[in-house]
Amino acid sequence: MSKPRVAIFDFACCEGCQLQIVNLEEELLDLISLVQPVAWREAMSESSDEYDIAIVEGSITRPEDEERVKEIRDRAGILIALGACATIGGINKLKNNFDLDEVKRYVYGKDAEMPHLNTAMTKAVDEVVKVDYKVHGCPINRSEFTYIVRCIALGKEPVIPNYPVCVECKKRENVCRFEYGEICLGPITRAGCNAPCPSAGFWCYGCRGCVDDPNVNAAKDIMEKYGKTVEDLMQKMALFGSGQKTEARE
Ligand code: SF4
Ligand code: SF4
Ligand code: SF4
Repeated sequence: MSKPRVAIFDFACCEGCQLQIVNLEEELLDLISLVQPVAWREAMSESSDEYDIAIVEGSITRPEDEERVKEIRDRAGILIALGACATIGGINKLKNNFDLDEVKRYVYGKDAEMPHLNTAMTKAVDEVVKVDYKVHGCPINRSEFTYIVRCIALGKEPVIPNYPVCVECKKRENVCRFEYGEICLGPITRAGCNAPCPSAGFWCYGCRGCVDDPNVNAAKDIMEKYGKTVEDLMQKMALFGSGQKTEARE
């Protein structure tokens, strides 16, 4: 049986998630025994438009990007969104909270009106095309990436946690960040990372996006118990948008 052909594409992002793939080193060779890379700007010079699996990193921030990702979707049998920028819009979605012209002036100064600096509201990939699988996180977790690609190559369905980071955090016996007077997004954020941030003394900032059906009432109870408000929680969520769809002003 021939190996599925894989192409990796990047949109608006820092390319750190692709770097995680490059950093797989020997494990990358194992993966290549299951799939055949045919296009990957960051790691190979050859490029082909014939592929079975498209891996898309980055968020969609311009009309021309929407057209490009639609073409990629049309060519691919399976599309995987790679990393928070692709799965939930990531940090790039911060700009949706501001007037776009103001953002452009702030970033590009006198060059803001140059046509190649055109920008639009940031969208996660699944706000533009159908996404079959998501590799969450900023950056992605390398083991989770290899697990998902392996499953797809072997025709199995990957199991992605749909419970909160708190579950993994409790297993690691961490003292809760709320006990330190901080706000942590663990109660509503999708697990799968093994809670590295609370384990290292930081709050979870929600890079894996929300669980499918977050227990909002339980989150409110926690906020009340520790004398915090829902507004405090929303402020923390702004960094990663926590999977919220685009609703900000045009
Ligand atoms: S998810 Fe994070 S690490 Fe990955 S490309 Fe986006 S900003 Fe970079
Ligand atoms: S530190 Fe965060 S992730 Fe850990 S138990 Fe507390 S709220 Fe949950
Ligand atoms: S603990 Fe939270 S912020 Fe840290 S990696 Fe996990 S989901 Fe991301």
